[in-house]
Amino acid sequence: MKRIGIDLGGSKIEGVLISGNGEILSRKRIPTIRSEGYEAILNRIVSLVRELIDNGSVDYTIGICTPGTISPKSGMIKNSNTACLIGKPFQQDLEDKLYHTILMDNDANCFALAEAILGAGQGFNTVFGVIMGTGVGGGIVINKQVHRGAGLIAGEWGHHKIDPNGPKCYCGNRGCVETFISGPALEHQWTSITGKSLTLEKIVNEKDIPGYNEWKEEFLTHFGLALSNVINILDPDVVVLGGGVSNISFLYSDGLRYVEKYSFSDYPNTPIVQNKLGDSAGVIGAAYLGEWS
Ligand SMILES: [Zn+2]
Repeated sequence: MKRIGIDLGGSKIEGVLISGNGEILSRKRIPTIRSEGYEAILNRIVSLVRELIDNGSVDYTIGICTPGTISPKSGMIKNSNTACLIGKPFQQDLEDKLYHTILMDNDANCFALAEAILGAGQGFNTVFGVIMGTGVGGGIVINKQVHRGAGLIAGEWGHHKIDPNGPKCYCGNRGCVETFISGPALEHQWTSITGKSLTLEKIVNEKDIPGYNEWKEEFLTHFGLALSNVINILDPDVVVLGGGVSNISFLYSDGLRYVEKYSFSDYPNTPIVQNKLGDSAGVIGAAYLGEWS
């Protein structure tokens, strides 16, 4: 059984064909061109899938990774950075055009699945994968299967509330994890403390500037609170970090101590590791959606 994975992003659509033993046989990227609208995006995905199917093979699965979520009630896309998909029966329309079952999941679940099967979570039973980038998301994988939950919100870590008086979040609540440890939130906190604007990449190299220690202390406190809450409930075998913020090295040293500080365990030793697949996790996770065999 071969696997086709498609990662639908705001600017590019990436596709892979993976063999039964996990070898990437073919890989292709095309632009999304959101301005051309819904029907054009569907048609581009259809032609990408057809290009990836080698020699007319009929024995394959197709999985799609998209940043949006699918309403369990209506099957419609609920939110997406590709706005023309919102409210559309995207999965059904693709199935109709391709005459094939389409498996679909969000980027955090695909990330967690890819890392659990081929990345830093390999060999661990319960994997909590988190994306800390422009937004914050999470996915739970147990025995190489995504755990989606009754309402398909399992692992939505970015919207855990860790401070009811915290910053307002786009979801309508206050103090969500995303409002503290996403890339933009961390840059905003730096500006509040120092009065200056800097990119996150530059901030972590500004160790001698007054305000750095305060910024880092706040960051790690929120990181520790947010992850220890998950560990106290899920008790995963490993936590894999992804997204731009996961490149900050002190998360894997000082960060561990803050997670331990707030963890209920007498023996806090959950490994917290950096991802191995980088930007490829979305498309690889998409390919592995559905039955693992
Ligand atoms: Zn929120």
